[in-house]
Amino acid sequence: MTEPRFPSLALHIGGRWITRAGGGERIVVDPSDESALGVLPLAGADEIKLAAETAAAGFQIWRRKLAHDRYVIIRRAADLMRQRADEIARVLTLEQGKPLSESKREVTLSADIVDFQAEEGKRLYGRTVPPRIAGMLSQTVLRQPIGPVAAFTPWNFPANLPARKLGSALAAGCSVVIKPAEETPATCMLLVQCFLDAGVPPEALNMVCGDPAEVSSTLIAHDAIRKASLTGSVVVGKLLGRQCAERVKRFTGELGGHAPVIVCEDADLGLALKSSLAAKYRNAGQVCASPIRFYVHRKHYAAWAEQFTAGARALRLGPGMDPATQIGPLVHERRVEEMERFVADALDQGARALCGGKRAARRGWFFEPTVIADAPATTMVQRIEPFGPIAVIEPFDALDEAVVKANALPYALGAYAFTRDLVTAHRLSEEIEAGMVGINHFGVSQPEMPFGGWKESGIGQEMGAEGLLHYTEIKTVLIGVPA
Ligand code: NAD
Repeated sequence: MTEPRFPSLALHIGGRWITRAGGGERIVVDPSDESALGVLPLAGADEIKLAAETAAAGFQIWRRKLAHDRYVIIRRAADLMRQRADEIARVLTLEQGKPLSESKREVTLSADIVDFQAEEGKRLYGRTVPPRIAGMLSQTVLRQPIGPVAAFTPWNFPANLPARKLGSALAAGCSVVIKPAEETPATCMLLVQCFLDAGVPPEALNMVCGDPAEVSSTLIAHDAIRKASLTGSVVVGKLLGRQCAERVKRFTGELGGHAPVIVCEDADLGLALKSSLAAKYRNAGQVCASPIRFYVHRKHYAAWAEQFTAGARALRLGPGMDPATQIGPLVHERRVEEMERFVADALDQGARALCGGKRAARRGWFFEPTVIADAPATTMVQRIEPFGPIAVIEPFDALDEAVVKANALPYALGAYAFTRDLVTAHRLSEEIEAGMVGINHFGVSQPEMPFGGWKESGIGQEMGAEGLLHYTEIKTVLIGVPA
């Protein structure tokens, strides 16, 4: 018997997988050819509430396990993700569109993230503090799991983003209700199955899809839920942040960015070009820390414009399942329309498209790799995250000028620079306002390092030792000697 092309879709609520739910259904589509992949059941209000109640029951089971036992289970889940990486990557590419090699890397990195968080779960240390009052036996500061968490993840990294939230929440002893993007639910389903097969109690891990606004507002309002964690747009981040603030619930938001890249006069131009092309067009630019604004020293600007454009033009567009593909489709039709709006607005304001600028003449939601020059600061592309395969290039003369422009937007997630000078590298890492700065490198997303934004790009971090702490509460305990 041959394997089915795509798993049959289900939600994990009340400790079991369900294939029919009260909120109707939605077709999941392959963005490379617009064909239907499967039918996703959508949770109605009762099922969303049941997911929250189940997570409350699951929390009581999971938090009572020894930290070491949780560690063993979560490590096992990471191993299962590695064992199943080929299948998970295939499903990821089908529903999201990125090249299969990128999906494979995403799944193995996701397993590494889960591993690291499992390890850190054993190190949720408290503190003992010398008492200042006579008759006090001990004064301790404890870190305890925050409680059931509502997690919301988008479609651009259907494995990595759920892995960050599930790995951290579970390692800290929390239970979860996760809502992956309705465009890419199957990858999350397969991840949830790894955790369940590894031994996470089914009540502690719930997965719902539905109307995003209804799911998030219902979960955040539910008494059982103690924290919400979102990766998504700034607009949705502000909305969920406000809903959490109303109830004084904890909130972590990994939101959008508009990453600058400063290519200094002394940069290794070969390295800067090669790595910038790879980083810009990875996942067709649908990456929150994707480089967008390239400020290039005037001495190199003409060469950069020519070579970066030639590199972008040479990228092979195609379905992610084709091994020759370097850049896949956008996730849905409205992202293509959005790219068209960015380009039209830039051209209207006097900018030039050095390459691309239009949808590709083929079936599926493809947009050509695009490079824009001479875009005034008032254009959409200079101010708003395109979240697609569009780069803006601009010359600068003095480094101070480039730093001012890099810091000019209300977003501050990733930022990058290329220089051979250590003093400049230190100066830029100090002066650039961003949650993550990469000098001569774009790889700022590492399991061991905190990932998060400043300004409107977010609140809190994920991954690294810091990531886990956001799933805990602090408790001050004083024990006096009985009389
Ligand atoms: P969208 O706002 O419709 O959806 C973005 C994501 O947010 C989806 O996963 C969706 O399910 C979720 N979402 C939307 N409303 C929600 C709500 N009320 N509660 C909970 N989740 C909700 O738009 P889109 O066209 O899919 O993407 C638009 C923009 O979103 C992009 O331009 C980009 O800036 C941003 N985005 C950011 C990230 C990131 O990694 N930070 C990822 C995906 C999208």
